[in-house]
Amino acid sequence: MPSGSVYLVGAGPGNPGLLTVRAKELITSCDTLIYDSLVHPSVLGLQRTDGERIYVGKKSGCHSVAQNDIQALLIEKARTGKRVVRLKGGDPYVFGRGSEEALALRKAGIAFEVVPGVTAAVGASAFTGTPLTQRNSNSTLVIVTGHEDPEKPESLVDWSSLPRKNTVLCIYMGVSRISAIVENLLNAGFDGSLPVACVEWATLGHQRVCRGVLDTIVNKAEEYSLKSPAVIIIGENVNMGDELSWFEAKPLQGRRFVVTRSQGQASELSEKLEKLGAEVIGLPLISITKNVDTRTRDDVFAEIASYDWLVFSSPNGVRYFFEAFFETFDDIRSLGFLRIAAVGKSTAKEISKFYVTTDLVPDEANADSLADALVATGSLDSSKVLLVTGNLGRDVLTRKLEEARAIMDRFEVYRTEATDLSRDPAAKAFRELGADGILFTSSSGVKSFVDQAEDLALEEGALHPKSISIGPITSASMAQQGMPMNFQAKEASLESLVDEVVAHFGKEDS
Ligand code: SAH
Repeated sequence: MPSGSVYLVGAGPGNPGLLTVRAKELITSCDTLIYDSLVHPSVLGLQRTDGERIYVGKKSGCHSVAQNDIQALLIEKARTGKRVVRLKGGDPYVFGRGSEEALALRKAGIAFEVVPGVTAAVGASAFTGTPLTQRNSNSTLVIVTGHEDPEKPESLVDWSSLPRKNTVLCIYMGVSRISAIVENLLNAGFDGSLPVACVEWATLGHQRVCRGVLDTIVNKAEEYSLKSPAVIIIGENVNMGDELSWFEAKPLQGRRFVVTRSQGQASELSEKLEKLGAEVIGLPLISITKNVDTRTRDDVFAEIASYDWLVFSSPNGVRYFFEAFFETFDDIRSLGFLRIAAVGKSTAKEISKFYVTTDLVPDEANADSLADALVATGSLDSSKVLLVTGNLGRDVLTRKLEEARAIMDRFEVYRTEATDLSRDPAAKAFRELGADGILFTSSSGVKSFVDQAEDLALEEGALHPKSISIGPITSASMAQQGMPMNFQAKEASLESLVDEVVAHFGKEDS
C-alpha cells in the first residue's frame, strides 16, 4: 500500500462476514481509518491497535462532520504520507457520497483506489429471501433514495417516471418519510396491493423485517416502530421470502448479545452465538498481554523435568506458556514425564493444540473443583506442582494444594488489565442499542464490567440486557458486585451457556 494514498472502501451492509477480502486487507494494514456510523465495531476491530481512527459519522443528536471537512481531512492525511482508508457502509458509490470524495482527491492530485462493498439492498435481498430480479416476474431493478440533500430545493426523484410493473424498487433512507413516499407511489399509479418488506439492520443478527402491501405498510411500519437504517423493498418478489428465507429461521436471529472478551481475541462464544443467528457485540473489557518474568521462566525451565504436575488455570496461560516453552526448547519431550491438569474443557482444548493430552479436567470448571480433583488423585504429598496462571489467578488453588503437602511453584505468564472503553466502537454500539443479554464467563469479566460501568451507561431507548452467568463462581462475583443475575448455565461450559441462551431467548418453533 503506497503512502499518501486514499482507499475509498465499502464495508458492506454491516455483517462483518460480508466484507471483501480487499477491504479486510486494507483495514488491517492502513495508518488512518476514517469511518461512518454504519460500520460494524468488529470490522473496526480489524485495524492495528496502534493505527489512527477517526469517526466522521453522526454523533447522537448532533450533525455529522460536514462533507467538505471530510474531504479536507482525507487530503490532509494523505499529504502527510498516511495510507488512509475511508470506510463507508455498503458501497461507496451507492448513496455514500464516495464520488464527491473521489473528485476532491483527483482535484488535489492524490492517488486513490475504490473498493466496492455489498450495498444494503443486495444484503437485504439475500438475508430475507427476496430476489432483486426474477426471470418471470421482473426485469428492472430500481434503487432510489427517499431522502435527498435537505438543501436541494426540489426532489430529483421523479416518482411518476419509475417503472410500475415487473419491477423491484429498493428505497434507501426512506424510514422517516415513508408515508410521503408511499403517497407519491400510489399517486404515480403503483398498485396498492404490491408486497413490501422493510428490512431494518439487514444482514445483522438483530435484523427485523416488517412486511405488508403498499396500502398497509405505513401503518404497519408505525406499529412495528420501524427505525433507520432500513431498506424498503417493493415488488412481487417480496412474496418469495415465504419460500426463500433462511436467516430468519435461525433460533437466535433478531437477538443481540454482549460478550465480554479480551482485546484482540476472537471469541469462541461469539462464533457460537453468531452461527445461531444472533448479533454479537464483543466488549473488550480486559486486555490480556503476555507477561513472562524472565527470571522465573529461567528457573522454571531449568527444572521443568522435575515437576510432577503442570496445572493450567486458563487457555491464555496455555498459549503463553507454550510460546515461552518453545522459545527455550525445540522438542516437546523436554516437558519430561509430568502430568497435566486443566481447569476446564476450553483450557484442555488449547493444550491439545500442542498435541499434548490433559490428564485431569474437573467436572466443574473452577479453581475449587480443580484443587479438589487434584487432591483426590492422592498424588500430591511431597510432589512438585507448577501452576501456570495470570496476575489475577486466585489463591484458593495454591492454598488447597499446599494443604495437601504439594510443593507449589507459581508461574505467571500474562497480565489482565482494563481497556479504555470511552472511545471503543463496540462500547459505543452497546450504549446506543443495548442488548437482549450480556454474558459473563469469568469473575474478572464481571469486575471489569462493573468498574467500567460509567463508560457503558445505556442511552435512552437502548434495550436493557438480562445478565447471564456461565457458572456458580461467576454468579457469586455478580452477587458480590451487586449485579442482578437472571440466568446461569447448567454446567460451567460455553456449550451449556449457549444452550441456556437458546432456552431463554430462542424462537419457540426452531
Ligand atoms: N452506501 C450505503 C448506503 C448509505 S445511505 C450502501 O451502499 O448500502 C444509508 C442508507 O442505507 C440507510 O438509510 C438505509 O436505507 C441503507 N442501509 C445501510 N445499511 C443498512 C442495513 N444494514 N440495513 C438496512 N438498510 C441499510
